[in-house]
Amino acid sequence: MVTLIGNWKMQLSESESETLAKEIVRLWAAQGANKPQAAVVICPSHMALEECAKATKGTPVALGGQDVFWEDKGAFTGEISPKTLKELGCEYCIVGHSERRQHLGETDEMVNKKVLALLRHGITPVVCVGETLEERSAGRRDAVVIAQVRTALANAKPVGSQRVIVAYEPRWVIGTGKAVSPQDAAEMHHLILGALEEMLTADTVKERCSVIYGGAVDAKNIAGFLAVDVIRGALVGGASLKPQEFAAMAEIAADAA
Ligand code: PEP
Repeated sequence: MVTLIGNWKMQLSESESETLAKEIVRLWAAQGANKPQAAVVICPSHMALEECAKATKGTPVALGGQDVFWEDKGAFTGEISPKTLKELGCEYCIVGHSERRQHLGETDEMVNKKVLALLRHGITPVVCVGETLEERSAGRRDAVVIAQVRTALANAKPVGSQRVIVAYEPRWVIGTGKAVSPQDAAEMHHLILGALEEMLTADTVKERCSVIYGGAVDAKNIAGFLAVDVIRGALVGGASLKPQEFAAMAEIAADAA
């Protein structure tokens, strides 16, 4: 299974999100029905989830949240519960995106609580990890990413139909239009898979975990990433807002699966 996930961030209004969701469904419905080996996921902002759920229901386009809180309910002003995401039809949820880490002080400990809450509700966490340019330049790339994986996924043991996706997203690449090379990404995927295998059994990792790449992926470079066997999908920001391009990427993903 190859997973292609569009992260729409806070780029669109509710009505713009609805329009984009309908357009992606229109472009991908027929193809996607014949190509279940590719999971195509859109992650609109929370306010747009309901309309996007209506647009994607019964289609091969799945829905994801961009963040979640770790409690089911309570006095947590402004937060969204995993229960609500589930009710709205979310099958996936991004957690620990570098923009949240950078602007909102999200830590690996917080990400870990979110991962456990999502698994409890049968929602696949898409756990973002990745180093800053300073960390990479200081030779700390591997240590930083391994530490993120270990903390963010502590005690996360997917069973049954539960799955975990780790998105390797070098922070300094996001939104720049300049991706790392597939070889560079592959090295990090191997490293992350190794860390996961130390925490879980090799069988669990094989059956229930995927590592995907994110950072300036588009229709021109996605095939190069997906040609690497350990890269099992892509988390896409900018290019996911262009329906023709995103549908073209879904097709490449399905062919690579
Ligand atoms: C992202 O926001 O997760 C991302 C990968 O963005 P972009 O594709 O625009 O670099």
